Amino acid sequence: MDKKISLVIPVFNEQEVMPESFRRTKAAMEDIGYPYEIIYVDDGSRDGTWEILSSIAGENPEVTALRFSRNFGHQLAVTAGMDAADGDAVIIMDADLQDPPEVIADMIKAWEQGADIAYGKRLKRHGETAMKKFTAWCYYRLLSAMSAYPIPLDTGDFRLLDRAVADKFKEFREHNRFLRGMSAWMGYNAVPVEYVRHERAAGKTKYTLKKMLKLAADGIFGFSTKPLSMITYLGSGVILAGLAGIVITAIWAAAAGAAAWLWGLWALVLLDGIILICMGVQGEYIQRIYDEAQGRPLYVVKEKIN
Ligand code: UDP
Ligand code: MG
Repeated sequence: MDKKISLVIPVFNEQEVMPESFRRTKAAMEDIGYPYEIIYVDDGSRDGTWEILSSIAGENPEVTALRFSRNFGHQLAVTAGMDAADGDAVIIMDADLQDPPEVIADMIKAWEQGADIAYGKRLKRHGETAMKKFTAWCYYRLLSAMSAYPIPLDTGDFRLLDRAVADKFKEFREHNRFLRGMSAWMGYNAVPVEYVRHERAAGKTKYTLKKMLKLAADGIFGFSTKPLSMITYLGSGVILAGLAGIVITAIWAAAAGAAAWLWGLWALVLLDGIILICMGVQGEYIQRIYDEAQGRPLYVVKEKIN
């Protein structure tokens, strides 16, 4: 029982929920019994969140509070917390109690049984609008169709990472981060832990539409270069259409005399196809530059003998 658990909790303008959030998280951790630390990262809150965090940290030596100089966004707040965490397992969790702290016990159980990653899989989502549920449902499916690595459906950032995985995470220094994509990229033995996502205990969502769209784009563009390859397919299709048009016009001209402007039309279509193919070729280079610029690890060795 001397293994230590780190909890990483990003917090942005959560003064309404913080006291209850800490109380329940602490109770859940004491029940589990492992030594633990809680790392709160204040992502530039403008309400009373920091005052609450500093008093919690003052009274509880197992709590560390970090404060960003401004709002850098949820994914970077989690990253800062993971950089600071030194437990044998690191758990990422929201502050608003939508990820119930009681589920941590199940994640730890999965970890004790050999899981390297135990990710929370949402069976149901309570207290969210039909629109949010529908767009989330569509997005997860689009993402998994686009991604080169299987990204589990209906899964957020709520998860446990073994120390080995958490260390690998630190090698990812890309700016536009999508943590669950990175987690999927990693491979390892990833085990789902099912739970029901509750409504926010208090306050309102801090994920504005703009932040949500940015995250959605980071997921797709960070983990798929299919949009670039699609340009080449599109160009090939347009060229085929142009060639077919020329053949049809030639037959028609021989038989009944097709209008002369049709030749100009197909010449333009062909040219558009050629331009698209050229863009696709550029896309191949951009894709490679992008891979190099992200600077991700090349591979992950899980075990070594001798
Ligand atoms: N959060 C953050 N920075 C932000 C937005 C959100 O640190 O810019 C935190 C927030 O305090 C919460 C977690 O990220 O602990 C998830 O945000 P929220 O609950 O608002 O998102 P939702 O559950 O509505 O998608
Ligand atoms: Mg929430």
